[in-house]
Amino acid sequence: MSIPTTPSTPSTLSIPEAPATGNMSPAQFRAHGHAMVEWIARYMEHVEDYPVLARVAPGDIRRALPSSAPDAPEPFEQVMADFDRILVPGLTHWSHPGFMAYFGISASAPGVLADFIASALNQQAMLWRTSPAATELEEVALGWLRQLIGLPEAFEGVIYDTASISSLHALAAARELAVPGVRQLGLPGRPDVPRLRVYCSDQAHSSIDKGVILAGLGHEALRRIPSDADYRMQPDLLRAAIADDRAAGIRPLAVVATVGTTSTTSVDPVAAIADICEAEGIWLHVDAAYAGVTAMLPECAAHFAGLGRADSVVTNPHKWLFTPFDLSAFYCRRMDVIRQAFSLTPEYLKTPDAARNLMDTGVQLGRRFRSLKLWMILRYFGADGVRARLRAHIALAQAFAGWVDASPDFERLAPVPFSVVCFRAKPAGRAWTEAGLAALNERIMTRVNAGGEVFLSHTVLRGRFTLRIAIGNLDTTQRHVARAWELIREALAAETA
Ligand SMILES: *Cc1c(COP(=O)(O)O)cnc(C)c1O
Repeated sequence: MSIPTTPSTPSTLSIPEAPATGNMSPAQFRAHGHAMVEWIARYMEHVEDYPVLARVAPGDIRRALPSSAPDAPEPFEQVMADFDRILVPGLTHWSHPGFMAYFGISASAPGVLADFIASALNQQAMLWRTSPAATELEEVALGWLRQLIGLPEAFEGVIYDTASISSLHALAAARELAVPGVRQLGLPGRPDVPRLRVYCSDQAHSSIDKGVILAGLGHEALRRIPSDADYRMQPDLLRAAIADDRAAGIRPLAVVATVGTTSTTSVDPVAAIADICEAEGIWLHVDAAYAGVTAMLPECAAHFAGLGRADSVVTNPHKWLFTPFDLSAFYCRRMDVIRQAFSLTPEYLKTPDAARNLMDTGVQLGRRFRSLKLWMILRYFGADGVRARLRAHIALAQAFAGWVDASPDFERLAPVPFSVVCFRAKPAGRAWTEAGLAALNERIMTRVNAGGEVFLSHTVLRGRFTLRIAIGNLDTTQRHVARAWELIREALAAETA
């Protein structure tokens, strides 16, 4: 196993590391920077040589590090040496082509380069004037992505860190509309405000729970609508729940539909849900954190029918658009409501500029230059290049699903609309209990993950322990997926021997 190490010490060691005050010298930066680029390039070349899942125990890394900061300056080479020796073994390699747990993602090279330069530029785009380029590039890059995924022009975009925060803003906007005066008066102690309700399916992401909690509604305000056999929200049950709540004096606030749920990537029927929300006057937020980018594929269009009728939509380029973590794209038809909820300008931030200031669009004041990586990625790969890669990942998942379906010893547990396959071992010719199958599949997963070539994760579907394989890394090829299948079958053989 050849593990990349820090390239040999730069020959510029005679240059003083840092003057007593001030930054690292430009000459040192050049030397360390070149070495760092070399480190990253080798990492990208050799990432497959690492065990994908870190082989450390809780506390190992912490104990290997000093408990306080050094008083005296240390040479950067020494810091990098400790990085290699102590921290690298504690990395789980999300960039490994065998990373098939959760959602496979990629820090594409153009995205890495964009983040490198963004750090150097250190733009803080709270006001237009504190970074006209970051402010306006965000609008342009999000406009490009909006067109690619087929959202109408009425949707304005903003970049947040994560889908959790994007969905929180959607709920805050819904609350702003549904509860008059909430910004000024809040919720507690108001006899004029009834109990409030947010609806999502029993498959929706836990970030919706957190958003409801943080919006001050109380966790009980979230009503989970049962999903059907294919894990999709059932619109009839949603309609009935709303009627039931209204009859009980509860005010519906928002419905969150998911396109590409986290467990199975199931697709809620957005058009039917939009019909209900329009008739009832309820905010519709669509969580498409993972799958949203596939709206740029004509063959996936059916999954997104009705998307343009939502009030807000989130999709995460850091999930399946090859963008280094983090970058969540939030689109909203009523960004004015977000601004109404949050804009607040202290005197020292007032400017005469006739321009939009990003600090008005949400909770945070400061903004990183995240749009740079989205822009560089879209230009470097081109829309056709992005589509080709998404298609390749979907085809790999379909191939894997085909192998599962053809095997008498495995069964598939959900449809595969995108690039995630839910399945489990269920060897033929024996009677199994649910508990026995759960234990078997957990042992298979543990054995595969211990091998270091592939990392799988699990979920539980209707009480059944389920293995998941998620394809989304740019370096994952047929060879890796075939190897994963081989390792899973070997693990089954070993566990049933
Ligand atoms: C991953 C995921 C999220 C959470 O994403 P973050 O950006 O990490 O907050 C939310 N919803 C869905 C459907 C997801 O798949």
